[in-house]
Amino acid sequence: MKDQKKEMRKRPRISRVSSVVMLIAALTGGVVLSSGAEAARVPISGPRSTDAVNPVSLSARSTKDLAAWAGSRLTLDRQRRAGSLTIRPAVQPAAPAETAATTVPLGSKGTAAPAAPAAKAAAAAGTSALVLYDTAGPYGRLGELYAMATANLAGHFGTVTAKPVSAYTPGLVEQYTATVYLGSTYYGGSIPDAVPAAFYRDALATSRPVTWIGDNIWNMANAVGVTQFGQKYGWDPTNSFYGTSGGVGHITRVDYKGQQLTRKIPAGHDGGVLHPALLSGPGHPAVTQLAQARDADSGAVSPWAIRSGNLTYLGEIPFSYVSESDRVIVFEDLLFDALAPATAERHRAFVRLEDISPEAEPAKLRAMADYLYSQKVPYGINVIPVYTDPKGVLNNGVPKTVTLSQAPQVVDAIKYMLARGAVLMNHGFTHQYGNVSNPYNGVSGDDFEFFRAHVDAADNVIYDGPVAEDSAAWAQSRVTSGLAAFAAAGLPKPTLWTTPHYAASATDYRVLGKNFSARLERSLYFTGTLSGTTADPSRYIGQFFPYAVKDVYGTTVLPENLGNYEPEPFNNHPARHPADLIASAKANLAVRDGVASFFYHPYFEVEPLKQTVEGIRALGYTFVAPAELTK
Ligand SMILES: [Zn+2]
Repeated sequence: MKDQKKEMRKRPRISRVSSVVMLIAALTGGVVLSSGAEAARVPISGPRSTDAVNPVSLSARSTKDLAAWAGSRLTLDRQRRAGSLTIRPAVQPAAPAETAATTVPLGSKGTAAPAAPAAKAAAAAGTSALVLYDTAGPYGRLGELYAMATANLAGHFGTVTAKPVSAYTPGLVEQYTATVYLGSTYYGGSIPDAVPAAFYRDALATSRPVTWIGDNIWNMANAVGVTQFGQKYGWDPTNSFYGTSGGVGHITRVDYKGQQLTRKIPAGHDGGVLHPALLSGPGHPAVTQLAQARDADSGAVSPWAIRSGNLTYLGEIPFSYVSESDRVIVFEDLLFDALAPATAERHRAFVRLEDISPEAEPAKLRAMADYLYSQKVPYGINVIPVYTDPKGVLNNGVPKTVTLSQAPQVVDAIKYMLARGAVLMNHGFTHQYGNVSNPYNGVSGDDFEFFRAHVDAADNVIYDGPVAEDSAAWAQSRVTSGLAAFAAAGLPKPTLWTTPHYAASATDYRVLGKNFSARLERSLYFTGTLSGTTADPSRYIGQFFPYAVKDVYGTTVLPENLGNYEPEPFNNHPARHPADLIASAKANLAVRDGVASFFYHPYFEVEPLKQTVEGIRALGYTFVAPAELTK
């Protein structure tokens, strides 16, 4: 019966993934529209369910912003090269500009709170980062997304203050361990330079690390003097451009610390990588090339990240179209130089078993536990406390709901796992939404719970936004109900959470942060979070981490950066085999104190898990329990 059901459910899934669609997926490196999230797929059998990850990092709407931005940038870059771009300098801010309401310090508790005047604040104790971002222009909203991504990563190291660069006040860089400026608005033409002259001066004068990413570095050179800039940093930004011969080329690879990292940006969305014009000869210091960009068509190699003096420069903002082996890894590692340079090399790994519901197969769970225990591998087990199939899709049309306490054999298997190295984690309440298909069938494990989604005609999972009744009270009620189901089954209270299919609203994330010590997942970060305005549910960035962070919602988020074993492609997601997970783990060796974290569905056989664990160990990683990941 079981096999028959499996076969019946398998057939439609294969038929819906056409070869044309797969070709498109191969060309674009995956689905383009949803975010770095645990996307769903059509299930392969019964209560089996699926989670997978998308490589892309911006919402559909922000992706449109990105494409328009890329075109605009190249136009402006050509004008600058031709000498026809007029750049009006920033108006000197009227004091006290630092009281701008848009300043958001993210404290150790991380809650974005109305700002105290940052410039007058005492220097933060411990490690602190200042993240400056652009807000001007038609694509200014991209700036906050990138700032959140940067603030999240910097949240691994200490406190973070994020503010629009226009609110910078003299001397501010001296109050932080390091500063990162994200140039995402190309100033010129109708958009006056919003970077205060004080920032240009301070960035040059300070001995503290300044990381500059993307646009406008040429304005700094012009402001402080091109000659002076060249004498201090050894390159000339005013003679450095994104375009090479009419376009941005086809840079598909970034090499860093011996790893070949991917750069998969679809045509039309690529804003290019700045090619820095290095200066030679007396009076110019050596420039360290930290990472190199390689053009797949021309074979040309140019610096992707350089350092001289206190200035580290990255030729692009690396948060779009991020894969598990992506060039964003360079930035994730370079932050150690700025914020924790004494960090020793250390490589740890984490594995969790996913989608264990009251309909799980106890024998499979025990087999997983036996293998991992024999290998002394600690692991997480992500449990859905209530299974439901409200439309009876898998039960001959008869609705079916099973709680943990109604599944004593599964509870026994979970206890067996807990006695053999497992750490209990909470994976939603029902891992589905209401009695609707969201996007597949309404069955626990298959569908989104905290976000709406549908599958479009091209077989992409499209994220539609928060649920209609989304609120803190609604999210809390689901958490409370889930925890009650664990308690009713005599299981301990989970302290870790993973959001079903990695998608929730900003409101939900804040509720989850209050109920659990950490989330272990990829997350969505919505426009409005830093600026303190109403969250825009259609503009967000998805992100995953190579180490534990304190994110802009104020929550500790543990890393999941490799995705999961998935032997067949679905919804334009490529298959991921043990070799793929191991390859991503290898790429992440470039992070000097990084984690290789993946998840695995226990309905698969043990063998691929074994291959993955062994392959990751062979790279030098040590598997640890989730509590270790914050140390
Ligand atoms: Zn799941």
